[in-house]
Amino acid sequence: MKMSQLYAPTLREVPAEAELRSHQFMLRAGLMRKSTAGVYAYLPLGYRVMQKVMNIVREEMNKAGGQEVLLPILQPAELWQESGRWADYGDEMFRVKDRNKRDFCLGPTHEEIITALVRSDVRSYKQLPIRLYQIQNKYRDEIRPRFGVIRGREFIMKDLYSFDRDEAGCDLSYQAMYDAYKEIFRRCGLDARPVEADSGAIGGDTTHEFMVLSDSGEALVVHCPACGYAANVEKAPCAEPAAQDVLDTQTAGLEKVHTPDAGTIDEICTFLDIEPQQCLKTVIYLADGKPVAVLVRGDHTLNELKLQKELDCSELLIADARTVEEVTGAAVGFAGPIGLSIPIIADQAAAAAADAVVGANQTDYHTRHVSVQRDLSLWKTADLRQCREGDACPACGQALDTARGTEVGQVFKLGTKYSEPLKATFLDENGKERSLVMGCYGIGVSRTVAAVIEQHSDADGISWPISVSPYHVVIVPVSFKDDQQRQTAEELYQTLQNLGVEAVLDDRLERPGVKFKDADLIGFPYRITIGPKSLAENKVELIERGTKTVELVDIAAVGSVLQERIHS
Ligand code: ATP
Ligand code: MG
Repeated sequence: MKMSQLYAPTLREVPAEAELRSHQFMLRAGLMRKSTAGVYAYLPLGYRVMQKVMNIVREEMNKAGGQEVLLPILQPAELWQESGRWADYGDEMFRVKDRNKRDFCLGPTHEEIITALVRSDVRSYKQLPIRLYQIQNKYRDEIRPRFGVIRGREFIMKDLYSFDRDEAGCDLSYQAMYDAYKEIFRRCGLDARPVEADSGAIGGDTTHEFMVLSDSGEALVVHCPACGYAANVEKAPCAEPAAQDVLDTQTAGLEKVHTPDAGTIDEICTFLDIEPQQCLKTVIYLADGKPVAVLVRGDHTLNELKLQKELDCSELLIADARTVEEVTGAAVGFAGPIGLSIPIIADQAAAAAADAVVGANQTDYHTRHVSVQRDLSLWKTADLRQCREGDACPACGQALDTARGTEVGQVFKLGTKYSEPLKATFLDENGKERSLVMGCYGIGVSRTVAAVIEQHSDADGISWPISVSPYHVVIVPVSFKDDQQRQTAEELYQTLQNLGVEAVLDDRLERPGVKFKDADLIGFPYRITIGPKSLAENKVELIERGTKTVELVDIAAVGSVLQERIHS
């Protein structure tokens, strides 16, 4: 490809809308352009990268027994009504009507479609296992589309669905996908680690997310430097409070104190000169519309997923101010557990508190010296808080670390969650009808491209790993007007192409500085600079983008040198 013809409009300025490096560089290097919030057009360079990622995904899916299909984006509401998700999916689903007012959606995911497909054609255990996948657009009307293609409303996903006769079969499919995912991300040059994840309110099933660690990640991960345990904080269990934390020596009686305007933990701590761990937060929730009081220690963060599971409800909302006032008789900020007539559920650390400050259910008042065991009758005690740095590892007990991460993929055992309501069954060896045991496995292909840039870029631009780079090398004659430089460049360009090295020739009549800046921004792994000095010795400069090391290489040898590096 000649640079003069390449449609890669680069930008010098950092676009104001782009916070993350990946987003900035995808715009600046001319990989993509925004169409509307969360919707992007991929330009030639961006699409070449995408295709390289897709090919890696495809090769590994095929190796792992997958067969590629292409499923409809436009999906009838009836299928989603069968699974119950037409109502559950909420506002994230793009819904459309046809001319006859029939309801459809643009697929946010494809469990319903594929289960319906397989149920009509699969009869016998002899046809199993089946692993079908596609690489295709998904549509989700995200509340906050942001970070460019990391959270889009239209994005490209690889999704594979496995159908097995039993749990043991599903375990094999799951393991095959788990291993394939590790290989895919490795081949893309990504350091992605599998972490245990939450399966949502339904619970029970096994799932792992593949996280690319980066400070800009939206997810929080805990990991153990000692044993390697890693989990999304949403999922990580907290150990029971250690014996020394459970104080049972408190003797002082309850005392009501006037705490005007001190409605937050910070305010009450300043006012009474105490530490947050000496306070208990009382948060009123509505679980499927019914009020419940939740107790957590002032220095702990409530984990709503754990709470929702414990309450076994399908809708969990923080109560509005009116409900709080009705239930507690006080303004928001002064709710407390004493004297409430609604069920109280406490985190296990809160339940161990023996001398705590709580809201007094009276505006501007708190109660101190509360012993949960002595003064309250709890409906339930459970692990409800979010794990944090320094907590004991659930696997080995050592102190946990935390890190932020971006989820690039997720693998999931579904069991019969879809096959049962959709009646996708088969006949086993004994002629008995059974539900298919399913798994689903997604990779955000477009998000993966951004994650690669997050991990492979510097102040000057992108530095692609060879495996997903749009081209392997750019040839930059210092002056394209110079006959000898131009001729050498054209010949080298031809030679490289013949050797299967993907080359771009910068044939523009630009200053060298401009060409070098573009080369660094776009991120070609190698640059060949052709200048008068080295040319006099029949050599060119070979510059590696990642390390910026410069080598002088014989013109006659540069093709084979590059060929070897690209394929090693
Ligand atoms: P998230 O928690 O980030 O919203 P998710 O759990 O909803 O993701 P899945 O349904 O598991 O995502 O989809 C599989 C993969 O698709 C994710 O691992 C992610 O890489 C990608 N993905 C999901 N939502 C988006 C999005 N809005 N934009 C780009 N990629 C996405
Ligand atoms: Mg996910």
